Amino acid sequence: MPPHTTTERHDATPPEPTGRRIPADLPDGDTQVRRLVTVTGVVQGVGFRPFVHTLATRLGLVGEVANTAAGVVVDIEGPHRAVAEFCDRLRTEPPPLADVSAIHVAEAPAAGAQGFTIRPSQDGQGRTMVPPDAATCDACLAELADPDDRRHRHPFITCTHCGPRFTITAAMPYDRPNTAMAAYPLCEDCAREYADPADRRFHAQPVACWACGPVLRLTSARGEPGATPQGGAALAEARRMIARGAIVAVKGVGGYHLVCAADSPDAVRELRRRKARARKPFAVMAADVATAARLGRVGPAERALLTGPARPIVLLRRHDTGFTAVADVCSGSPDVGVMLPYTPVHRLLFGLPGDPPGPTVLVVTSGNRSGEPLVTDEPDAFDRLAGLADAWLWHDRPITVPCDDSLVRARPDGTTMVLRRSRGYAPARIAVPLDLRPVLAVGGDLKNTLCLAEAGSAWLSAHLGDMGDLAAQRSFERAEAHLRTLTGVTPGVLVTDMHPGYASTRWAARHAAGRPVRQVQHHHAHVAALMAEHGLDGGEPVIGVAFDGTGHGGDGASWGGEVLLADYAGFHRLAHLAYVPQPGGDAAVREPWRMALSHLRAAGLPWAADLPCAATRTDDEPRLLERQLTRAVNCPPTSGIGRLFDAMASLVGICHDIEYEAQAALELEAAAARALDAPGAYAFALRRTPHDGPVVIDPAPVLRGAVDDLRSGAGADVVAVRFHRAVAHAVAAVCRTVRRDAGTGGTVALTGGVFANALLDRWCADALTADGFTVLRHRTVPPGDGGLALGQAVVGGCRN
Ligand SMILES: [Zn+2]
Ligand SMILES: [Zn+2]
Repeated sequence: MPPHTTTERHDATPPEPTGRRIPADLPDGDTQVRRLVTVTGVVQGVGFRPFVHTLATRLGLVGEVANTAAGVVVDIEGPHRAVAEFCDRLRTEPPPLADVSAIHVAEAPAAGAQGFTIRPSQDGQGRTMVPPDAATCDACLAELADPDDRRHRHPFITCTHCGPRFTITAAMPYDRPNTAMAAYPLCEDCAREYADPADRRFHAQPVACWACGPVLRLTSARGEPGATPQGGAALAEARRMIARGAIVAVKGVGGYHLVCAADSPDAVRELRRRKARARKPFAVMAADVATAARLGRVGPAERALLTGPARPIVLLRRHDTGFTAVADVCSGSPDVGVMLPYTPVHRLLFGLPGDPPGPTVLVVTSGNRSGEPLVTDEPDAFDRLAGLADAWLWHDRPITVPCDDSLVRARPDGTTMVLRRSRGYAPARIAVPLDLRPVLAVGGDLKNTLCLAEAGSAWLSAHLGDMGDLAAQRSFERAEAHLRTLTGVTPGVLVTDMHPGYASTRWAARHAAGRPVRQVQHHHAHVAALMAEHGLDGGEPVIGVAFDGTGHGGDGASWGGEVLLADYAGFHRLAHLAYVPQPGGDAAVREPWRMALSHLRAAGLPWAADLPCAATRTDDEPRLLERQLTRAVNCPPTSGIGRLFDAMASLVGICHDIEYEAQAALELEAAAARALDAPGAYAFALRRTPHDGPVVIDPAPVLRGAVDDLRSGAGADVVAVRFHRAVAHAVAAVCRTVRRDAGTGGTVALTGGVFANALLDRWCADALTADGFTVLRHRTVPPGDGGLALGQAVVGGCRN
């Protein structure tokens, strides 16, 4: 290291500004000095070099700046006082999309440079990060709508502060030849802006215009060959078609969407028919915040999420009145998923002043068949979306890596819960207070993401979907290679779930190439993910409440109602939901009526014909189920609380068969949300097991209470709300017991897919807080399996 080298890291919180005072042992303020400054973090593709250029010029400094494999390197020379101020401001005033993780300053002998220049980038493995994609900024939107601007209505308008980044970058450093814009040589006007340090588009890699950018086209399923409108005509025709009820495939930044008018019941019904998706709610795109507020409740936190640069789908509590057509779009959900336009093409689809009026709310759903990977390229789009779309609004700029829309909700306390972490969030760095070895964690099998980590940093991929088929595994491999290129992490260890049957586990075994493969128990990984997200160093264990549907327990049972005392090194199982048979394994996941009958039987309650779950099937099926349970054939024991939610949903008659994952639990939550005024709660029994074994949380009294209520005429909604309260009370009771008996555990971590349930999330947190616990909840990492890889990475990458 050169002499007098200092390295500063400020990972979790920004540093205190250091002030401008010059210590006595440093040179006089006017002495000429030279410094080599290396800035790492998200500093490429965010206007960092123009910012450096402007700052240096303003302070009268000379030297140069370059993107290198090590980060942004500034060679800066001038009076000592000004150089010190320059280094300060790098830290305190970076551009809006930047995320500086460290600034490294080294001394160098003065060289007497002239002027300040931006040097071409140097090749090499990236150690800095490309930022997530950002929604079109206000300045660009103003130009888009300005008839006198040369980019009026240009569908690819962007600048240094907005637009695609992650989804167009193939290699580091982040420079035009390494992006999907490499094929579009800049025209003279764009080149002038690109080269002008005073311009908003100075070194903005995706910059383009009508003369030099990608071309938008509309191809109709029924169109005549050659009749392909371009540019403004393509957009106008797409708007006309959507207004008339057509379904149009629209190429976004991370993949294709299927788009139709949300206020056209016929179009929505047709979309459901073509996607074979009868009940799963669709997300919508609203023209603006005012329109979104007509659909659902928009408070300050929701507004900030809707309009922020990540521009996710935000779950809003739906208004009963207002926009009636949305009821079809949302099915029975109490929420409506709304996003605002985040690309110029979306903005133009809603029309600019002077355009014919069109729908102000569009259904916008991923352009793929259920369970398949996102469609990102044209041959695929024309092939796989044939029969789904009436037309394709597409362009010739490639999508380098698929990226789904992110899904978030705001809690009543204003914090965010990220349910699907993808566009706008990936691949933002997650700072962890651990010294991790370079590691690749491959996640689970559903809602898969992967995680690369090294030293104090972890990077989660975008949401990849289910690992089931070959196409999904290919997109997993593409995402892994892409993230490795972007982060420069070369993993020496692979980490998987303990489940031997997971496709992700088998993938890791096939690709280990001699590297060690570590396994991490599913619920331990959930708890570790939450600890890491909150920056815990693992010195103190937490009580982890990990609630989901399924996870390999290592004892032959499927876990999922777990209370663990955990740190990064390991865990101790403190309590779990009582085991019941899961008849037929996965069949019971698809058919909640099976779980209802299994839970009734375990509670000693007969399958009376007046109970909806028993009445839903013909005589044969329950009889076969009875025989299966008696003989214990293909009846793995489960402690999954997700399976108990399924059982309750069927018991009350809401959902006996599911069409999409977690449907029964979502519909049960929706029912509970309709009956918040109804008092009362059921109660779980807590049973001790011998020899200090885990406490067993027994749902039998809950089942009995629910059956009694149903018989006395209480509706499904009332039973649902009393069940939700019972779960929250049980969580608090178990945590109190643990604290009393073990004398440890002031902190409780709520994690697992079941905590996507907004009622349960709030009620558990409230009950625990009232009992004096510190409660950790997920904010930027999903509580479900989308966050699993982060937990695997920190457990598997820990050096101790
Ligand atoms: Zn912009
Ligand atoms: Zn141009």
